Amino acid sequence: MLTLIKNAEVVAPVKLGKQDVLICGEKILAIESLIEINSPYVALVDASDKIMVPGFVDSLVHITGGGGEGGFTTRTPEVNLTDLTTAGITTLVAALGTDSISRSLNELLVKAKELNAYGLSCYIYSGSYHLPLKTITGDLQSDIVLIDECIGVGEVAIADHRGSQPHFRELARIASDARVGGMLSGKSGIVSIHMGPGNSMFSLIDEVVEKTDIPISQFYPTHINRNKVLFNAGIDFTKRGGYIDLTTSSNSMAFELGEIKCSKGLKEFLDSGGDIQQITFSSDGHASLPEFDEAGNLISLEVGNEGSLFREVRDCVLHESIPLEVAIQAITSTPADVLKLKNKGRLQANNDADLVLLEKQSLHIESVMSKGQWLVRNQTPLIKGTFES
Ligand code: ZN
Repeated sequence: MLTLIKNAEVVAPVKLGKQDVLICGEKILAIESLIEINSPYVALVDASDKIMVPGFVDSLVHITGGGGEGGFTTRTPEVNLTDLTTAGITTLVAALGTDSISRSLNELLVKAKELNAYGLSCYIYSGSYHLPLKTITGDLQSDIVLIDECIGVGEVAIADHRGSQPHFRELARIASDARVGGMLSGKSGIVSIHMGPGNSMFSLIDEVVEKTDIPISQFYPTHINRNKVLFNAGIDFTKRGGYIDLTTSSNSMAFELGEIKCSKGLKEFLDSGGDIQQITFSSDGHASLPEFDEAGNLISLEVGNEGSLFREVRDCVLHESIPLEVAIQAITSTPADVLKLKNKGRLQANNDADLVLLEKQSLHIESVMSKGQWLVRNQTPLIKGTFES
């Protein structure tokens, strides 16, 4: 079956202007200014009043739930298919977090397979906050080489009282195993780093980069908008060649305590001369959003929201005057490049047909296609999880 989407303003994320996009099976066959096919086998879609962008790539979602830091009643639930699809997310990487006792990598992998069975592209990180590393096969390299969905390791927690307080040698071993596993399987072998609020910030990563041959680009530290001091250190980290990731899920209390809203963070990053190809957003969806008091006691808890991923990009455009073709890179081409997902993050021939149609003025998500299949049309999910109401 062929689908021909006519007259969309294509932001690929390079601005291509008005284009026709032809989709065959799971792939984009062609993007040209005029494609005409008259055939009963072609589904025609008029997108004259729409902007087409690549499907979003969310590098951190806790698909089986997270949290639990406040006891058994504070474990967050697992993600629903439509939490992702209505948020425009067609590619995601799933991770465990603090809890690797009641949550397992087996469960994470099977949940990823479930989302893939519905038509998404869901990958996983091996490991968790906890060290020594828990894996599926018993070995990180084997997980990355032998399990199709496994593309790296994370979240490895540093500078956080909830982490395992790794020594630099431990982090170096994890990073080299992930790197070699990635090389052997043609994957990124990326090391997703959960950056906590501790004062040591990037020092452990810097130590590994200084004392070993592992490049700074092997690391993908997230939550860098947690506070102003960390954010400034993050800008310096990119000047040394590193990538940083900002977390879009947040709440008003976090902002009061100094967290930087992603849209404002991206504006500040670009104004400081930062390279758009070194900064990304992720939702941290279905994580808990805990706040601790000075004594380390949990004082509040909410659930991370996948819809925040594109909401922050929209705020970049509507409130921070960042062009869409720039801001959208933070959730499309740049995370796809960091994660080395070659067919993702860009609208071009031979890439996977993952795309989002946006309303031109409001930038609301109107339709979502993943691997050639419409999952959302006219803001309504066409496919729901088996147990979703
Ligand atoms: Zn985290």
